[in-house]
Amino acid sequence: MSAPHTPVERADFDQVIVPTFAPAAFIPVRGQGSRVWDQSGRELIDFTGGIAVNVLGHAHPALVAALTEQAGKLWHISNIFTNEPALRLAKKLTAATFADRAFFCNSGAEANEAAFKLARRYAHDKFGPEKCEIISAVNSFHGRTLFTVTVGGQPKYSDGFGPKIQGISHVGYNDLDALAAAISDKTCAVVLEPIQGESGVLPADQAYLEGARKLCDQHDALLILDEVQTGMGRTGELFAYMNYGVTPDILTNAKSLGGGFPIGMMLTTNEIAAHFSVGTHGTTYGGNPLACAVAEAVVDIVNTPEVLSGVRDRHERFKRGLLEIGQRYGLFDQVRGMGMLIGCVLNDAWKGRAREIFDAAEREALMILQAGPDVIRLAPSLIIEEADIAEGLTRFDRAAAKLTQA
Ligand SMILES: *Cc1c(COP(=O)(O)O)cnc(C)c1O
Repeated sequence: MSAPHTPVERADFDQVIVPTFAPAAFIPVRGQGSRVWDQSGRELIDFTGGIAVNVLGHAHPALVAALTEQAGKLWHISNIFTNEPALRLAKKLTAATFADRAFFCNSGAEANEAAFKLARRYAHDKFGPEKCEIISAVNSFHGRTLFTVTVGGQPKYSDGFGPKIQGISHVGYNDLDALAAAISDKTCAVVLEPIQGESGVLPADQAYLEGARKLCDQHDALLILDEVQTGMGRTGELFAYMNYGVTPDILTNAKSLGGGFPIGMMLTTNEIAAHFSVGTHGTTYGGNPLACAVAEAVVDIVNTPEVLSGVRDRHERFKRGLLEIGQRYGLFDQVRGMGMLIGCVLNDAWKGRAREIFDAAEREALMILQAGPDVIRLAPSLIIEEADIAEGLTRFDRAAAKLTQA
């Protein structure tokens, strides 16, 4: 028996946690499917999926089984040895995608860090040290390490930390002319999110991704797709690039991959992977058996026609319900995104006020997300039940009614 837990409350956060976050006023203690309970026993509907992570909701029996089975066998063994779950997971992911090789790590930022280093190493080996420039998009988000914030197109995340990594430039998203003007023979990689997630759930135009692919080919640059948020079924295909028919050279994913257990990955081809030889890059935890066992169970469930077509059906259901609410209360007229990554673009009168809507939803026991100050974002479980969608939308309607009548 373990000792009884010390009682804790939300106020403790402000005393003992480094203040990088401002969490909501309640503390969730349990989840089941798309419902969550807080310390007081209040039941909430979860349209956030842990920010596009809990791809099969909370406490999915197959994931609990995979985790507990592996927990009784082998947690961690280091990369001095390989392990069965990592090999099975890599086989499944490479079989299901363009890729021949996988690199496992623990987060989206680490996956991108590996991708950027690999792109530079590849260009360095093949074309020489001059070819090291990386082009990414304004308002993009690629993680919080110094390399990934610098590649990310949001100075508020990269300024004030001393000298930045050099050779990185940013061009407007969905602006093919700007990309064409910026790319050169010094470019080693172009990095894009198929849907800009953090900065407003903004999908790439078909012609933009196709054009970016062509420009990369013309300049011997690699196309890196950051699918940390869009990957693993979230858009109704296993990866978002499949919706576009535009194949990257390197793909990164994390969030949904572990369904809530931390894991990230980078996928690439044999030719490119060969430039990370033994010792060039590494990780202690990456590819750990616990994480890979859970991710394997995620892939087994998500990569099925039923789940993927269910995501597309649910998108339509959400879109209809959300548009009705947005228009009834004058909050928004545009609902964008794909699958279970949905953005409601606030009208002029509500621009900058996403936080107020977030707070109003919370008062009605509904968990939603913002993507910047102007967009409400939903990233629920891919298998959220109809009853939970209906109840969540009812609560959203009530929140919007109270907010706009106040
Ligand atoms: C969340 C996110 C990241 C960072 O992932 P972490 O696991 O927080 O490091 C990187 N890129 C995109 C597109 C993301 O949405």
